[in-house]
Amino acid sequence: MDHFSYKNGVYHAEDVAIPDIAKAVGTPFYCYSSATLEHHYKVFSQAFSDVDAKICFAVKSNDNLAVLATFARLGAGADVVSGGEIRRARKAGIKGENIVFSGVGKTAEEMSYALDEGISQFNVESEPELLLLNDVAISKSKVARIAIRVNPDVDPKTHAKISTGQKESKFGISMVHALPVYRLANSLSGIDVQGVSVHIGSQLTTLEPFSQAFSRLRNFVNDLRSEDIIVTTLDLGGGLGITYGKEQPPLPEFYAEIVKRETKDLGIKLLFEPGRVLVGNAGIMVTKVIYVKQGENRIFVIADAAMNDLIRPTLYDAYHEIISIIPPSGDTPTELVDVVGPVCETGDIFAEQRLMKIPKTDDLIAFRSAGAYGAVMAGTYNSRLLIPEVMVRGDKFSIVRERQTYEELLGRDKLPEWL
Ligand SMILES: *Cc1c(COP(=O)(O)O)cnc(C)c1O
Repeated sequence: MDHFSYKNGVYHAEDVAIPDIAKAVGTPFYCYSSATLEHHYKVFSQAFSDVDAKICFAVKSNDNLAVLATFARLGAGADVVSGGEIRRARKAGIKGENIVFSGVGKTAEEMSYALDEGISQFNVESEPELLLLNDVAISKSKVARIAIRVNPDVDPKTHAKISTGQKESKFGISMVHALPVYRLANSLSGIDVQGVSVHIGSQLTTLEPFSQAFSRLRNFVNDLRSEDIIVTTLDLGGGLGITYGKEQPPLPEFYAEIVKRETKDLGIKLLFEPGRVLVGNAGIMVTKVIYVKQGENRIFVIADAAMNDLIRPTLYDAYHEIISIIPPSGDTPTELVDVVGPVCETGDIFAEQRLMKIPKTDDLIAFRSAGAYGAVMAGTYNSRLLIPEVMVRGDKFSIVRERQTYEELLGRDKLPEWL
């Protein structure tokens, strides 16, 4: 469910007509709906309202401060993967005690900062990381609360580039090897073992992989407890999928059923790290058609947005529904077209052979479901400016990240003295 829809033939975000935003900020831009963000958070959190659970929004899916602050107000914590994300979460009003720190490559500097901020849990992904964290904590006379991210070796049945819980993955420690690492952790004075964490992948559209992983995790928790290793938190990661096209991912309430079935006997505090399911369908990217080019045997719709603004189609072969902000008139021909950006890369394609009413120059079109892994993955390839983000609430909208300027873009470069 989202709050993007046609009203009187014009596409709206809540009660704001998209062309009004385009007029104010130019194109391309991302547009988020507050009501949709709030709705998704509430549906997810209500599914766990009867158990001891904390929802830590995965900041990497959308790190806009306004998005983080929207969730913070609803009581969310944050799952972060870098010192930069900790700073964002803190700035959005999320306390350290509600932040968990994931990631395979935490540096000593990031650990030190996280300890200063009182991060509630480090999800440790390797033995060398554990030893470094111990050293950093001891040097600051602190104790780091940790979970070890275990790899349950489950195939999440999603795109290879977003699968994280199989043997070949760089993430986590396999369950057999995790046990000795827990014993080691228990012996370190700078470390306080508090939990187990897992995250098997993203955009999962079936429950079986979760079910398999969580059941293995339950056995693992029992193994730890039988060795008198105290485990009070179980971090089940994120990964629940959304509908981009024809997918029918399970509703949060059915995901919650699986979770509760596997964890009810453990008497344990649950942590969740949902990203995509909270923000994916709460955002769109709006772009203007620059040209419609008749190629040898293809029609190219060339938009003013490109792969540097939304990389998902070329990186993950991702499908995004494309809609016309004002649908072309009824007699406009419907054809198979390639929707592409201006970047000088053959891979700069948003949609190949998509059946649509052929738009005209200056028409606005939008990519739906662009709220997750959209703006956060943007870059400036081809010296293109980072595009703005706008948040709508009812009949109001606000620019929540400004368009980059050419001064900012060029200002980072310095000429060496000899030139
Ligand atoms: C990416 C990631 C998430 C969020 O995944 P979604 O599929 O967006 O829910 C959660 N936890 C960790 C450790 C991640 O790397």
